[in-house]
Amino acid sequence: AQSLPLPPEPRIFTVANQKGGVGKTTTTVNLAAALAREGARVLVIDLDPQGNASTALGVEHRADTPSVYDVIINDVPMIEVVQKSPESEQLYCLPATIHLAGAEIELVSLVAREQRLRTALDTFLDTFPDQFHYVFIDCPPSLGLLTINAFVAAKEVLIPIQCEYYALEGLSQLLSNIQLIERHLNPDLAVSTILLTMYDARTNLANQVVKDVRDHFPEQVLRTLIPRSVRISEAPSYGQTVISYDANSPGSLSYLEAAGEIAHRGAPE
Ligand code: ADP
Ligand code: MG
Repeated sequence: AQSLPLPPEPRIFTVANQKGGVGKTTTTVNLAAALAREGARVLVIDLDPQGNASTALGVEHRADTPSVYDVIINDVPMIEVVQKSPESEQLYCLPATIHLAGAEIELVSLVAREQRLRTALDTFLDTFPDQFHYVFIDCPPSLGLLTINAFVAAKEVLIPIQCEYYALEGLSQLLSNIQLIERHLNPDLAVSTILLTMYDARTNLANQVVKDVRDHFPEQVLRTLIPRSVRISEAPSYGQTVISYDANSPGSLSYLEAAGEIAHRGAPE
Protein backbone atom coordinates (compact mmCIF):
# COMPACT_ATOMS: atom_id res chain seq x y z
CA ALA A 1 0.00 0.00 0.00
CA GLN A 2 1.40 3.36 -0.92
CA SER A 3 -0.48 6.39 0.21
CA LEU A 4 2.19 8.98 0.90
CA PRO A 5 4.46 10.89 -1.50
CA LEU A 6 7.93 9.34 -1.58
CA PRO A 7 11.00 11.61 -1.58
CA PRO A 8 13.21 11.48 -4.70
CA GLU A 9 16.34 11.24 -2.53
CA PRO A 10 16.66 9.42 0.79
CA ARG A 11 15.79 11.76 3.68
CA ILE A 12 18.24 11.14 6.50
CA PHE A 13 17.12 12.21 9.99
CA THR A 14 19.04 12.29 13.22
CA VAL A 15 16.64 12.04 16.15
CA ALA A 16 18.39 13.98 18.85
CA ASN A 17 17.96 15.55 22.27
CA GLN A 18 20.66 15.20 24.88
CA LYS A 19 18.01 14.60 27.52
CA GLY A 20 17.12 10.97 28.20
CA GLY A 21 13.53 9.79 28.32
CA VAL A 22 12.03 12.44 26.04
CA GLY A 23 10.83 9.99 23.40
CA LYS A 24 13.73 9.79 20.93
CA THR A 25 13.64 6.02 20.53
CA THR A 26 9.85 5.82 20.65
CA THR A 27 9.62 8.49 17.96
CA THR A 28 12.30 6.86 15.81
CA VAL A 29 10.75 3.40 15.70
CA ASN A 30 7.13 4.51 15.41
CA LEU A 31 7.71 7.07 12.66
CA ALA A 32 9.83 4.51 10.82
CA ALA A 33 7.12 1.84 11.12
CA ALA A 34 4.42 4.34 10.12
CA LEU A 35 6.30 5.42 6.98
CA ALA A 36 7.07 1.79 6.08
CA ARG A 37 3.39 0.94 6.45
CA GLU A 38 2.53 3.76 4.07
CA GLY A 39 4.84 2.40 1.38
CA ALA A 40 8.28 3.87 2.11
CA ARG A 41 11.46 1.82 2.49
CA VAL A 42 12.97 2.82 5.81
CA LEU A 43 16.22 2.17 7.68
CA VAL A 44 16.64 2.71 11.41
CA ILE A 45 20.20 3.06 12.68
CA ASP A 46 20.38 2.30 16.39
CA LEU A 47 23.22 4.42 17.73
CA ASP A 48 22.41 4.01 21.42
CA PRO A 49 24.37 1.30 23.30
CA GLN A 50 21.12 0.55 25.17
CA GLY A 51 19.77 -0.96 21.95
CA ASN A 52 16.20 0.12 22.70
CA ALA A 53 15.35 0.79 19.05
CA SER A 54 16.63 -2.68 18.10
CA THR A 55 14.42 -4.20 20.81
CA ALA A 56 11.34 -2.29 19.72
CA LEU A 57 11.87 -3.33 16.09
CA GLY A 58 12.19 -6.99 17.10
CA VAL A 59 15.71 -7.46 15.70
CA GLU A 60 18.42 -9.56 17.31
CA HIS A 61 21.06 -7.61 19.21
CA ARG A 62 22.86 -10.01 21.54
CA ALA A 63 26.51 -9.28 22.29
CA ASP A 64 27.69 -11.51 19.39
CA THR A 65 25.29 -10.05 16.79
CA PRO A 66 27.10 -8.02 14.09
CA SER A 67 26.12 -4.44 14.79
CA VAL A 68 26.63 -0.75 14.16
CA TYR A 69 29.75 -1.04 16.32
CA ASP A 70 31.42 -3.26 13.69
CA VAL A 71 30.44 -0.78 10.99
CA ILE A 72 31.80 2.28 12.77
CA ILE A 73 34.89 0.82 14.40
CA ASN A 74 35.88 -2.13 12.17
CA ASP A 75 34.73 -0.90 8.73
CA VAL A 76 32.37 -3.85 8.23
CA PRO A 77 30.03 -2.96 5.32
CA MET A 78 26.59 -1.97 6.56
CA ILE A 79 24.92 -4.34 4.11
CA GLU A 80 26.39 -7.29 6.04
CA VAL A 81 24.93 -6.10 9.32
CA VAL A 82 21.50 -4.67 8.48
CA GLN A 83 18.53 -6.82 9.49
CA LYS A 84 14.94 -6.74 8.31
CA SER A 85 12.46 -5.94 11.07
CA PRO A 86 9.56 -8.39 11.47
CA GLU A 87 7.35 -5.27 11.58
CA SER A 88 7.37 -4.84 7.82
CA GLU A 89 8.98 -6.00 4.57
CA GLN A 90 10.01 -2.39 4.05
CA LEU A 91 11.64 -1.74 7.42
CA TYR A 92 15.30 -2.42 8.18
CA CYS A 93 17.43 -1.91 11.25
CA LEU A 94 21.14 -1.58 11.89
CA PRO A 95 21.20 -2.95 15.46
CA ALA A 96 23.21 -1.74 18.43
CA THR A 97 24.79 -4.08 20.95
CA ILE A 98 26.47 -3.53 24.27
CA HIS A 99 29.84 -3.17 22.44
CA LEU A 100 28.76 0.28 21.31
CA ALA A 101 29.28 1.52 24.87
CA GLY A 102 33.04 1.43 24.24
CA ALA A 103 32.88 3.08 20.83
CA GLU A 104 32.78 6.60 22.21
CA ILE A 105 36.33 6.11 23.56
CA GLU A 106 37.62 3.98 20.67
CA LEU A 107 36.51 6.55 18.11
CA VAL A 108 38.79 9.20 19.60
CA SER A 109 41.92 7.69 18.09
CA LEU A 110 40.47 6.68 14.69
CA VAL A 111 41.03 8.52 11.40
CA ALA A 112 38.05 10.61 10.22
CA ARG A 113 36.35 9.84 13.50
CA GLU A 114 33.41 12.17 12.87
CA GLN A 115 32.69 10.85 9.35
CA ARG A 116 32.68 7.10 9.87
CA LEU A 117 28.91 6.60 9.94
CA ARG A 118 28.41 8.93 6.99
CA THR A 119 30.91 7.09 4.81
CA ALA A 120 29.37 3.71 5.65
CA LEU A 121 25.81 4.96 5.11
CA ASP A 122 26.61 6.63 1.76
CA THR A 123 28.14 3.40 0.47
CA PHE A 124 25.18 1.38 1.73
CA LEU A 125 22.59 3.65 0.12
CA ASP A 126 24.52 3.68 -3.17
CA THR A 127 24.90 -0.09 -3.38
CA PHE A 128 21.66 -1.46 -1.88
CA PRO A 129 19.57 -2.94 -4.71
CA ASP A 130 16.44 -0.94 -3.78
CA GLN A 131 16.06 2.73 -3.00
CA PHE A 132 15.62 3.80 0.58
CA HIS A 133 13.26 6.70 1.23
CA TYR A 134 13.96 7.43 4.89
CA VAL A 135 16.79 6.83 7.35
CA PHE A 136 16.32 7.57 11.07
CA ILE A 137 19.31 7.58 13.40
CA ASP A 138 18.42 7.06 17.06
CA CYS A 139 20.96 8.87 19.25
CA PRO A 140 22.14 8.27 22.78
CA PRO A 141 21.31 11.00 25.34
CA SER A 142 24.66 12.80 25.06
CA LEU A 143 26.54 15.03 22.67
CA GLY A 144 29.59 12.79 22.25
CA LEU A 145 31.26 11.36 19.16
CA LEU A 146 28.44 8.92 18.40
CA THR A 147 25.93 11.77 18.23
CA ILE A 148 28.40 13.83 16.19
CA ASN A 149 28.66 10.90 13.74
CA ALA A 150 24.87 10.96 13.48
CA PHE A 151 24.79 14.73 12.80
CA VAL A 152 27.46 14.37 10.13
CA ALA A 153 25.61 11.48 8.41
CA ALA A 154 22.23 13.24 8.41
CA LYS A 155 20.61 16.05 6.46
CA GLU A 156 17.78 16.75 8.89
CA VAL A 157 17.51 16.86 12.65
CA LEU A 158 14.28 15.81 14.33
CA ILE A 159 14.01 16.94 17.95
CA PRO A 160 11.39 15.28 20.13
CA ILE A 161 10.31 17.51 23.01
CA GLN A 162 8.47 16.21 26.01
CA CYS A 163 5.53 18.36 27.08
CA GLU A 164 6.75 19.02 30.61
CA TYR A 165 8.24 21.73 32.75
CA TYR A 166 11.92 21.49 31.79
CA ALA A 167 11.17 20.94 28.10
CA LEU A 168 13.08 23.92 26.75
CA GLU A 169 15.99 23.61 29.13
CA GLY A 170 19.07 22.34 27.32
CA LEU A 171 17.54 23.09 23.94
CA SER A 172 19.73 26.12 23.29
CA GLN A 173 22.83 24.02 24.01
CA LEU A 174 21.60 21.40 21.54
CA LEU A 175 20.91 24.05 18.90
CA SER A 176 24.31 25.71 19.30
CA ASN A 177 26.01 22.31 19.00
CA ILE A 178 24.07 21.68 15.80
CA GLN A 179 25.23 25.08 14.53
CA LEU A 180 28.84 24.14 15.21
CA ILE A 181 28.40 20.91 13.27
CA GLU A 182 26.80 22.83 10.42
CA ARG A 183 29.67 25.30 10.31
CA HIS A 184 32.54 22.83 10.56
CA LEU A 185 31.44 19.34 9.55
CA ASN A 186 28.12 19.24 7.67
CA PRO A 187 26.86 22.41 5.94
CA ASP A 188 23.75 20.53 4.73
CA LEU A 189 22.36 19.92 8.20
CA ALA A 190 19.05 21.58 9.18
CA VAL A 191 16.70 21.26 12.14
CA SER A 192 13.65 20.49 10.01
CA THR A 193 11.27 18.90 12.48
CA ILE A 194 10.20 19.23 16.11
CA LEU A 195 7.69 16.78 17.55
CA LEU A 196 5.91 17.33 20.85
CA THR A 197 5.57 14.06 22.75
CA MET A 198 3.86 12.68 25.87
CA TYR A 199 1.19 15.33 25.63
CA ASP A 200 -1.49 15.26 28.30
CA ALA A 201 -4.34 17.60 27.36
CA ARG A 202 -5.63 17.73 30.92
CA THR A 203 -2.69 19.73 32.25
CA ASN A 204 -2.28 23.47 31.77
CA LEU A 205 1.45 22.92 31.88
CA ALA A 206 1.45 20.73 28.78
CA ASN A 207 -0.58 23.35 26.91
CA GLN A 208 1.85 26.07 27.99
CA VAL A 209 4.83 24.02 26.72
CA VAL A 210 3.07 23.47 23.39
CA LYS A 211 2.46 27.20 23.06
CA ASP A 212 6.06 28.13 24.01
CA VAL A 213 7.61 25.65 21.59
CA ARG A 214 5.28 26.75 18.76
CA ASP A 215 6.14 30.41 19.44
CA HIS A 216 9.88 29.68 19.31
CA PHE A 217 9.86 27.29 16.33
CA PRO A 218 6.80 28.04 14.19
CA GLU A 219 8.29 26.46 11.06
CA GLN A 220 9.62 23.27 12.58
CA VAL A 221 6.93 22.07 14.98
CA LEU A 222 4.55 19.46 13.58
CA ARG A 223 0.82 20.11 14.10
CA THR A 224 0.42 16.57 15.39
CA LEU A 225 0.89 16.06 19.12
CA ILE A 226 1.86 12.61 20.41
CA PRO A 227 -0.36 11.84 23.42
CA ARG A 228 0.87 10.18 26.57
CA SER A 229 -0.39 6.63 26.08
CA VAL A 230 0.13 3.35 27.89
CA ARG A 231 -0.13 1.45 24.59
CA ILE A 232 2.91 3.34 23.27
CA SER A 233 5.00 2.40 26.31
CA GLU A 234 3.82 -1.24 26.33
CA ALA A 235 4.63 -2.02 22.70
CA PRO A 236 8.45 -2.42 23.04
CA SER A 237 8.08 -5.20 25.62
CA TYR A 238 6.43 -7.23 22.84
CA GLY A 239 9.26 -6.38 20.42
CA GLN A 240 6.81 -4.23 18.48
CA THR A 241 6.03 -0.66 17.58
CA VAL A 242 2.62 0.69 18.54
CA ILE A 243 1.80 0.74 14.82
CA SER A 244 1.60 -3.06 14.77
CA TYR A 245 0.87 -3.64 18.49
CA ASP A 246 -2.34 -1.61 18.52
CA ALA A 247 -2.86 -0.07 15.11
CA ASN A 248 -6.01 1.89 15.93
CA SER A 249 -4.94 3.25 19.31
CA PRO A 250 -4.59 7.03 19.65
CA GLY A 251 -0.79 6.66 19.97
CA SER A 252 -0.52 4.70 16.73
CA LEU A 253 -2.83 7.07 14.88
CA SER A 254 -0.83 10.08 16.08
CA TYR A 255 2.46 8.64 14.82
CA LEU A 256 0.81 7.81 11.48
CA GLU A 257 -0.41 11.39 11.28
CA ALA A 258 3.02 12.80 12.16
CA ALA A 259 4.57 10.57 9.49
CA GLY A 260 2.07 11.94 6.98
CA GLU A 261 2.99 15.51 7.86
CA ILE A 262 6.70 14.76 7.44
CA ALA A 263 6.11 13.11 4.07
CA HIS A 264 3.89 15.89 2.76
CA ARG A 265 6.23 18.68 3.89
CA GLY A 266 9.13 17.09 2.05
CA ALA A 267 12.80 17.80 2.62
CA PRO A 268 13.82 21.38 3.43
CA GLU A 269 15.25 23.47 0.55
P1 ADP B 1 14.60 8.41 24.88
O1 ADP B 1 14.94 7.53 23.72
O2 ADP B 1 14.61 9.86 24.56
O3 ADP B 1 15.41 8.09 26.10
P2 ADP B 1 12.18 6.82 25.03
O4 ADP B 1 11.61 6.86 23.68
O5 ADP B 1 12.93 5.58 25.41
O6 ADP B 1 13.07 8.11 25.30
O7 ADP B 1 10.99 7.09 26.06
C1 ADP B 1 11.22 7.11 27.47
C2 ADP B 1 10.11 6.31 28.17
O8 ADP B 1 8.87 6.95 27.96
C3 ADP B 1 9.98 4.89 27.65
O9 ADP B 1 9.65 4.05 28.71
C4 ADP B 1 8.81 5.00 26.67
O10 ADP B 1 8.11 3.77 26.54
C5 ADP B 1 7.95 6.06 27.32
N1 ADP B 1 7.20 6.84 26.33
C6 ADP B 1 7.67 7.45 25.22
N2 ADP B 1 6.69 8.10 24.56
C7 ADP B 1 5.56 7.89 25.28
C8 ADP B 1 4.20 8.29 25.13
N3 ADP B 1 3.80 9.05 24.11
N4 ADP B 1 3.30 7.89 26.06
C9 ADP B 1 3.70 7.12 27.12
N5 ADP B 1 4.95 6.70 27.31
C10 ADP B 1 5.88 7.08 26.41
MG1 MG C 1 16.51 6.15 23.52
